[in-house]
Amino acid sequence: MIIDGKAIAKMKREEIAKEVAKLNAKRITPGLAVILVGDDPASQIYVRNKHRACKETGIYSREITLAKDTSEEDLLALIDKLNADSAIDGILVQLPLPKQIDPDKVIERISPHKDVDGFHPVNAGALLTGQEGFVSCTPLGIMELIKSTGQEISGKDAVVIGRSNIVGKPVAHLLLRENATVTICHSRTRDLKSICQRADILVAAIGKAEMITGDYIKEGAIVIDVGINRLESGKVVGDVAFEEASKKATYITPVPGGVGPMTITMLLYNTLLSARKRAKD
Ligand code: NAD
Repeated sequence: MIIDGKAIAKMKREEIAKEVAKLNAKRITPGLAVILVGDDPASQIYVRNKHRACKETGIYSREITLAKDTSEEDLLALIDKLNADSAIDGILVQLPLPKQIDPDKVIERISPHKDVDGFHPVNAGALLTGQEGFVSCTPLGIMELIKSTGQEISGKDAVVIGRSNIVGKPVAHLLLRENATVTICHSRTRDLKSICQRADILVAAIGKAEMITGDYIKEGAIVIDVGINRLESGKVVGDVAFEEASKKATYITPVPGGVGPMTITMLLYNTLLSARKRAKD
């Protein structure tokens, strides 16, 4: 069965919109600030999509575009202002940043309470230690997709390919939190195929077009394909060879239309969570 990320994301956004309306009744509007430095066309599209998704769900979004040559100091000063701004529940700085700005410094400057991307070391640490905090959006979306199958996660063998801070590592910890037995694979892993063949749940976050062929997949597995790879023909494919893999997997996400639509949805969700905390304060 194909896990329909688009449909699941739509449902989740409707739920979020209802929750936002409840907060509105308490005179609170969740607010998200998105900062874009420079004019990278792909980043411009991402920012526009985030703005549109906020509008759809009733979240206030403030788009701030800064010149390509903005200094690190100026960006940090802007973050300080937004940290103190009571209309803003979430701050997101679109990556990548121009060379003169250190992304680690920028992420660390965002208040962990407004770090709806979940990249701040405090939030990454909270995930590791099982404390409350923001979890990054793509991993959170991946877990929603796995849960949508209704299959038990506890006790299952889960294999995550990729160990980035944005996807691989947090997904592995979320699966561990759900009591899966988790193996993390990466570019230096020996005999990747035989490890994948054990996976009841396989998450591929590599960035290599259709690398995971049908023979990597265990019969009956849940396969989550995070990869976004543009072929020379212009076609976008995942890290998994979908046709072959779907013959072995019981549940599989397509690319596009799988993990992608969930990422922005979970950003809206994190912004809602942050605003709810404000409502309680
Ligand atoms: P990354 O480049 O930071 O990490 C890739 C990981 O793959 C690394 O940890 C590396 O060790 C591993 N890897 C590379 N070659 C390998 C090999 N031959 N065998 C085993 N492991 C190997 O990438 P990322 O930011 O984690 O993103 C991964 C993919 O997911 C990319 O295609 C990216 O575009 C996509 N992505 C999608 C979304 C979404 O919303 N759908 C969000 C984030 C990333």
